[in-house]
Amino acid sequence: MCPRSIMLEKDLKPALEGKTIACADWQRYYTGKYSWHGDEVPELEELAGGKIIFAGASCILTDNGMLLIFAYMDGCVRYYEKGETIDLPVLKKSVTHGYHATIKLDDGATLGFNLYSWATFYKVFKIDTAEIDTRFACKSKRYPFIPKSPIEVTDPEDFTLERFREWLSDRPNVNIIENCATAKGAFRIDNPVMNYILRISKIHPLTKTRTLTEAEVFAIYDNTTKLVGEYRTGVRISEHIDIYGRQVVAHNDVLWMNTSVLSAPCPVCGAPIAAVPAAGTKMYYCPVCQVRKTQGRPHVAAPKLMSAPIL
Ligand SMILES: [Zn+2]
Repeated sequence: MCPRSIMLEKDLKPALEGKTIACADWQRYYTGKYSWHGDEVPELEELAGGKIIFAGASCILTDNGMLLIFAYMDGCVRYYEKGETIDLPVLKKSVTHGYHATIKLDDGATLGFNLYSWATFYKVFKIDTAEIDTRFACKSKRYPFIPKSPIEVTDPEDFTLERFREWLSDRPNVNIIENCATAKGAFRIDNPVMNYILRISKIHPLTKTRTLTEAEVFAIYDNTTKLVGEYRTGVRISEHIDIYGRQVVAHNDVLWMNTSVLSAPCPVCGAPIAAVPAAGTKMYYCPVCQVRKTQGRPHVAAPKLMSAPIL
């Protein structure tokens, strides 16, 4: 998820691309109550011998057509130079299975993963036989193998105003936060960051997409483009744990609109930040800066009626 995926990709690309995979391994180090990973990773051994021609924050593609797709929690992907001790993090919670996966490279370096929650993922696909699971395929023509969102927000050629408009116009009755972020959204931006983009765009997260003006759609597009660009160029750095296990401090990071800011004063107007349920979670917004509208008009809450409590 952006922006941390941007940070990690900057490290992973130069560390992996051009190297050949010597061997790939996977093991369960902790048995918990739940898991959806199963007991093995089919075709994992077929990664061996492949030269890495593309590495991203969530995938590795080899020249023999093998694709490894992975998702992990912050701090759970690690890179070790030759001779370094492999000390992958281990599961602290006792609910799910804990897995370690390692990819040894021809220069003696090792890429390792700690996988333990529902949000983690580790799967191998043979993309030359069209066996890739389309649920994880990107619709971008340039990167059909990358398991990303329908619009690749980090690629200026893919994330154009026209494509964004098309995406929204196909989903007029969906609220804007779900059309942008969330599992069904146009791009993989962390919900707290997308809520920040909506705040600076002055749009309520539950605004029905069909009620957005052209200027509002452009504001979302423009603010998203600027923000992602600033993370890519290093103007902004998001707090994260890098592939060497180091805690990277935030630099010029956005206000993460999550539970930590609930009731805190809006940085612009001072009104307390509020929350609304959406997409199975909560979205955070400023009730003054982001006025909800219905059918193009501002939404005015009905006055509360004074009544005796029901006993
Ligand atoms: Zn405000």
